[in-house]
Amino acid sequence: MFTFDMDGVSGMLRRDPNIANRPSVLSQGEFGPTVGTPRILDLLESYGIPATFFIPGYVAEHHPGAVHSVHGRGHEVAHHGYLHEPPASLGSREEEASILDRASKILARITKQPVLGYRSPSWDISEWTLDLLAERGFAYDSSLMDNDVPHSIARRGTKLVELPVHWSLDDAPYYSFNPAVGRVGPLLSPQIALDTWIWEFDRVYASGTAFMLTMHPYLSGHHSRLEALERLIKHIRSHPNVEFMRCIDVARLIPGRATRGTKLRARTK
Ligand SMILES: [Zn+2]
Repeated sequence: MFTFDMDGVSGMLRRDPNIANRPSVLSQGEFGPTVGTPRILDLLESYGIPATFFIPGYVAEHHPGAVHSVHGRGHEVAHHGYLHEPPASLGSREEEASILDRASKILARITKQPVLGYRSPSWDISEWTLDLLAERGFAYDSSLMDNDVPHSIARRGTKLVELPVHWSLDDAPYYSFNPAVGRVGPLLSPQIALDTWIWEFDRVYASGTAFMLTMHPYLSGHHSRLEALERLIKHIRSHPNVEFMRCIDVARLIPGRATRGTKLRARTK
């Protein structure tokens, strides 16, 4: 699973609303939906890879064309808060529910489809998040590090799948550098990110399970990082019996009952 969190400026505005008056700082986020995403879509298309884009409602409102492009090219559009609010930072279940529903409506209005996937901003859910998702019929969450294999986390008789993530399989710890919002490195070479991801993929491949990579268009949309991503694609494609899948399609393979360590078998080749 290749996933792209199209944060745009939402995360920095959530952290400090005064950044709205700082065009240089904002421009680093704006690069994501306006420049990074089209480049990533072209790269994915050239290899026939379907992916999942987690898009905050605020970013979708300001860049509906980018959401249309993602959806129109066969990728999944999924939930990532409204203004990138980490659920654990919210004051109440009601406030979290209201943000969840507001952003779902925005995405559904653009794609004309219900939103079935959720990834919490900053991977920091609250005590209520999973129940709120289950009540609303979400198919999966992708915010936990309790395992590295997709599995069911059935909630009160409702099916909900967890598609686990990890910071080492996220481009931000390698690439993020924005002193204005307190992100000061380490700004590593794409080679270091690529090496880590290839090492992880090779062991995941040997175990026959699932590889989940999280990227951000405002980070991975830059040329050297796109080169790393393309090299990773070539490495993965050199292995037989691998399938690139959208998160929703993986979630649908997981049985409804609570499971641990489900083996996934590629459906093609
Ligand atoms: Zn994010």
